[in-house]
Parts: sequence; C-alpha cells; structure tokens
Amino acid sequence: MNMITNHLPTAELQALDAAHHMHPFTDSNALAAKGARVITGAKGVHLRDSDGQEIMDCMAGLWCVNIGYGRDSIAEVARRQLLELPYYNTFFQTTHVPAIALAEKVTSLAPDHMNHVFFAAGGSDANDTNIRLVRHYWALKGKPEKQVIISRKNAYHGSTVGAASLGGMQAMHGQGTLPIPGVVHINQPHWYLEGGDMTPEEFGLQRARELEKKIAELGEDNVAAFIAEPIQGAGGVIIPPSTYWPEIQRICDAHEILLIADEVICGFGRTGNMWGSDTFSIRPDIMTIAKGLSSGYAPIGGSILSDEVFDVMATDEFYHGYTYSGHPMSCAVALENLRILEEENLIGNVRDVTAPYLAEKWAGLGEHPLVGEARICGLVGALQLTPDKASRAAFAEGPGNVGVIARDLCFEDNFIMRHVGDQLIISPPLIFSKENIDTLAEKAWKVLDKTMASATEKGLMKAA
Ligand SMILES: *Cc1c(COP(=O)(O)O)cnc(C)c1O
Repeated sequence: MNMITNHLPTAELQALDAAHHMHPFTDSNALAAKGARVITGAKGVHLRDSDGQEIMDCMAGLWCVNIGYGRDSIAEVARRQLLELPYYNTFFQTTHVPAIALAEKVTSLAPDHMNHVFFAAGGSDANDTNIRLVRHYWALKGKPEKQVIISRKNAYHGSTVGAASLGGMQAMHGQGTLPIPGVVHINQPHWYLEGGDMTPEEFGLQRARELEKKIAELGEDNVAAFIAEPIQGAGGVIIPPSTYWPEIQRICDAHEILLIADEVICGFGRTGNMWGSDTFSIRPDIMTIAKGLSSGYAPIGGSILSDEVFDVMATDEFYHGYTYSGHPMSCAVALENLRILEEENLIGNVRDVTAPYLAEKWAGLGEHPLVGEARICGLVGALQLTPDKASRAAFAEGPGNVGVIARDLCFEDNFIMRHVGDQLIISPPLIFSKENIDTLAEKAWKVLDKTMASATEKGLMKAA
C-alpha cells in the first residue's frame, strides 16, 4: 500500500513544504522563513505534531470537526462506500443511494418549509450556486431585473470569485478585481467596534435598517437576495444584537427579497441548536451548508431550498452543477457524521451542559484587564482585546499586533485559538468537555497575562 508516512525529520518536511506547497491565505515567503507546523495525527480534541507535541484544538480544524478526530466508524463507512460505488454523477437523470439518503436526512433536519438540497463540494461553491440560483429564480418569476445581492462588510462566504464577492473582506476584494457586478455591501452589526454611544439594541436596529435603505436606493425591483451568516464567523465571531435579525426578517419579507442564511459555521449544532436560524428565529429561503455537515472528514457542502424556491426552479433546467455534487463517499461520510451527532446527543449536550459552562468561564475571562468584551453563543466565541476596557478603545498602533502576540502565545502553549485583528476566537469541537473548557480557561487567562506584559513592553498598550 502507498501509505503517506511521516518519517522525515520536521525540518526536512518543512523544507519540502516550503519548496512545493503553496498554502491558502498565507504569505509564502514569511512561512518559509519560519517553517510550517506539521500536523501528523489527531484524536478527540487533540492534534499531534511531527515533534510529538499534543495540541488542544479550540477551533475544530477550521470550524468543522464537530464530532472530534479519529472516528473509526467514519473511516469504515468511507471504505465501504469506496468499494461499493466510489463515484458516479447525478447529472444525467441518474442518482445513487448515498445522495438520496443524505438529501432525505439533511432536509429532515432543516426547517419544515425546506425540503430540497443541491449539493456542492464545499461552502464557497455552494454560495456560487446561490448566486446563480436566486437570479434565475427571479427570472423564472418574470422579474429578471431582480439581480442584485446585498451582503455585509466583513462577511465571509468563501473564496471563489462569486463567494469572495458575496463576502465583505476588503483584503480579498483588493486582489483580482472583486466584487463582481451586482453585489453590494452594507455595514455589519459589530456593536463593540462600531456601536459608538448606542445601546446594542439601538445599534442592531440601525444596522438592520441599512438593508431597507439600500433596497430603497437600488429599487426593490432590482434586488434578488440578502445573504448573511447568523453569526459572522471569520469576521471575528460577531454575535448580532437581539434586535438585528427580527428586523432583517421583517425587511426581507416586506420587500420580497430572498433571505440566504449562510449556515456553514452555525449549522449542525454550533450555537446549541441545529441551525443558527433556530437560535435567531430566522426563516431563510436558502441555507448554505458545509463544514459541520461532514465534520470535515470529507469535502461536501450544499444549498437547502425552501419549497417556494424549489417549486419555481423545478420548472426549468438549471444549467449548473459540479462533478462532485453529491459525491458518494462524501455523502456516506456526512450521513455517518449526522448519525453520531444525533446518537450522542451532541447538540443537546452543548445546549444544556457545555455551552452554559463555557459561558460562565468566558465571562470570567471577560474580567481580564486586556479583554473589552467576551462574546459567546453555544460553542463559538470571541475575546475582544483592548488597551482600555472602559472606553472600548482600539489599539493606537493599528489592529492585529496584539492579536498576533496572543495567538502565537497560544500556539507556543500547545492550544489553538485564532486571532481576527485583536479578537481571539474559539470554535471547539462539539464534543468539548467541561474538563476541556477548564483547561482552555486556565490557559487563556495565562496567555492574556503574557500578552499584556508583552504588549506593554513593546509600547502597544496605547489607546487609539
Ligand atoms: C468556511 C465558510 C465558507 C466557505 O466554505 P469552503 O468549504 O471553505 O468553501 C462559506 N461561508 C462561511 C460562513 C464559512 O465559514
């Protein structure tokens, strides 16, 4: 068998990696100078690197390994499916059992009015599907001018040309002439950074009403859809004020705008309910799914459609699809992942046990002098770092310096939190235990202490 081995010493693996492997979202020269950390294995909530270090993964890979690492049954299901039917397409009036079974399962978990799913290989391409789908939907409804999609600054919807256009990441738009025409962005509901003197509730309403203003400006007859993550993930775990989503829902309903909930992070239990849309009482027309759908064990994503949207789309051929739409092995793996999620009551356990426990510990970290706000919902959260708690000030030297210090200190202490600017974020596997949470809280407090000492020494603790 041609097994991939890890026999080379770390330095040699790093050199080969630098010589031939171009990484996503990475400054290649900077990485080559430092050397990538080589991950060789994982079990439960822990990774292992090529030097034999054990690392606690508080990001579930990239927000995806919800059932934890090292599940035998997933490997077994994948093996059997590869032997039975490794591949067949679903284009030309054919189907196969794994796609049928997963479509039935996923839609049974979806809100009652959503009963069809279109498969993709991940979240980005699922959102590309959504762009073409909502535009063609309105064309079929005799309103071909309804083409514009409204999104939000600092949203993340993936990295293809379409998905990066939907996203509101300035750095991404700066490369490759994005966004594509027909995508516009309104402001995000980030109260801590942008709320000024308003209460969170006032601010949530104000930011939601930017949608209504934008629709008026563009003309309701030109707007196809609004897309948003229930909680912005990659943007910094931005949990909107309670007033935000009800007002967005009202506006979409009032102006006949399709509502796309990008559930790629929130879906499948992250917030303590099956969907972020449950947590925030959103009634979407389309939901984007990926990540937690397979817990990252195989690449798969998709778009779940409301009956209303599907019934219109069903009247015409949709000239769209991916070679790996409904890939048999990915579908089989996703099904087994969902079986584990249900059988082990992972979402119920998050909701009733670990989320309340984490919320308590997180509030404790919020007491640290370096932390301006400790946001948490289910098992996803952020620590907003600040040089001055009282004034919610940003750091004078610009965003990210202190965040990077903190992130690197986490890495050095063998646990992974990610930084977005000066926010430290977590999204641990849903199997995260109370003991894991205790460890995280202890380690995080020490990292905050060390970060503050280091930032003070470097003269970075000045308020903007
Ligand atoms: C990760 C992510 C995507 C993109 O998914 P990929 O599988 O990386 O293409 C889309 N939307 C959200 C909210 C995400 O977090």
